[in-house]
Parts: sequence; structure tokens; C-alpha cells
Amino acid sequence: MSAPVAMVDVRGVHKWFGQLHVLRGVDLRVGAGEVTVVLGPSGSGKSTLLRGINHLERLDRGSVRIDGELIGYRRAGRTLRELKERDVLRQRAHIGFVFQNFHLFPHLTVLENVTEAPIATRRRTRPAAEAQALALLARVGLGDKAASYPRQLSGGQQQRVAIARALALEPKVLLFDEPTSALDPELVGEVLAVIRSLAETGTTMIVVTHEVGFAREVADTVVFMDEGRIVEQGPPQEVLDRPRHERTRAFLSRVL
Ligand code: ADP
Ligand code: MG
Repeated sequence: MSAPVAMVDVRGVHKWFGQLHVLRGVDLRVGAGEVTVVLGPSGSGKSTLLRGINHLERLDRGSVRIDGELIGYRRAGRTLRELKERDVLRQRAHIGFVFQNFHLFPHLTVLENVTEAPIATRRRTRPAAEAQALALLARVGLGDKAASYPRQLSGGQQQRVAIARALALEPKVLLFDEPTSALDPELVGEVLAVIRSLAETGTTMIVVTHEVGFAREVADTVVFMDEGRIVEQGPPQEVLDRPRHERTRAFLSRVL
């Protein structure tokens, strides 16, 4: 019996910003339907890793496969820069990305924010895209906000729209980069609840967050990053309750 293909398979990834070696050989596998939570101090390379997986950042070495399909690669001098832009765009279409600061289009309604990409890039008809968007907005608890503009919504509501927008492209994997860090504390729970409900329906996700309680409840795997490396990874009960590395312990004692 062969091992199941990982939905996300990151191998030997390196990234430099000039002299700064920001990712120092990262390997990460996320199985279909699994949730991986990435913890780590500021500057440890978490965002660069997520952005690299999604091609928002060019990786210098290593490979990224999504559902078995190669995304980033460098061998014998071949770099991602040399991959066809068309291939990058096609492969990126399988990945949903939710940013810390929502990144909604301010001049579009909530409904238009969710339908824009499916209509523009998937050639979906407007009625079909709108029907799907309304269903997704209901799923994130915003069925009554379709006609609103982002500025009329709370941060928590805006982030839930951003999640609906990412889901509209039916991605194979969803990446979250500190999705609740920009929110007032009382709005964090509603966004985490939506992410938790996605986990329950088998959405493959990588979530960078400092919410250790969320990690404990929702993660299949917790990854601790420090200085561009994965220092420790495993089930939440192991990494959070019995960390083996001093740096993991020190980090957890600061955030808990
Ligand atoms: P984290 O998300 O864990 O806080 P980042 O991936 O954002 O960490 O950053 C890792 C390191 O790379 C930091 O030292 C940061 O200053 C640096 N860095 C991030 N983006 C850039 C960039 N575009 N140019 C130069 N340095 C960067
Ligand atoms: Mg970051």
C-alpha cells in the first residue's frame, strides 16, 4: 500500500532576502482534510513560508507540491522565476489565502467581493457566481450583508467575507496568515468559529496564529517555527503540553 499523497508537500524550502536567510530548509506535509497550525515568534519566517507556498514570494530552493502537482522548484539553476506565469496562476488557483488585514475591495459590495474572482477567472456566469456567493455568505453567518460595503462591517465580519471569497474559488487548501491579529479581542471568536467549522467539514488548512487555545482544539498538527526552521511538530497535546525543545517552551510561556 502506498502512502496517501499529501495535499501540501513542502520540501527543502529556502528563501533569502538579500543576505538574510529567512527560510532555512523547511519540510512540511499536510494531508487532505488536515489542519496544521503554525506557531512561532515574530520574524521566524511564518508569513514567508505561506507566501512562498502561494507564490506571492519567490522561493530560492526546494519544492512545493499541491495535491501532487509541483508548484515551486529549483534544481540545476532552474528557478520559479523561469516557470511560466500562466502555470503559476493556474496552480495558485488551487490555494485560498486569507490575510491579516482582510484585503477586501473597498469599492465593491460584499457580494461583488465574493463573485469577482469566480466571474473574472473561472468564467462563471453572474447568476451562478451569485448563488454560490450567497450560500457561502450564509455559511460564514453573513447572509444578510450581501449588499453592504466593507467599511460598513466590523473587522470580524470583513474577515468572514474574506474567508467566503477564498472559498468561492473552491481551493484545495486554505492558508491563513494571522487571521485574527488585526481584530479587537471580542471579534476574534467569531472568525475562529468559522475556521473551526471549515475544519469540521474537512477543509485542508494551514493557519498561522498565536491563538494557542484554537490550536489545541482544532489542529491535527502543530508546527513551531523559529529562525527559519521547523523546530518541532506533532499533535497539539505533544507540542503544546510536552514541548521537547527549549525554544518551544520559552515561546509558549510567553504567549500562554
Ligand atoms: P513572521 O511571519 O514569522 O513574523 P516573516 O516571514 O514575515 O516572519 O519574516 C521573516 C524575516 O524576513 C524577518 O526578519 C523579516 O524582517 C524578513 N522579511 C520579510 N519580508 C521581507 C522582505 N520583503 N524584504 C526583506 N526582508 C523581509
Ligand atoms: Mg507574519
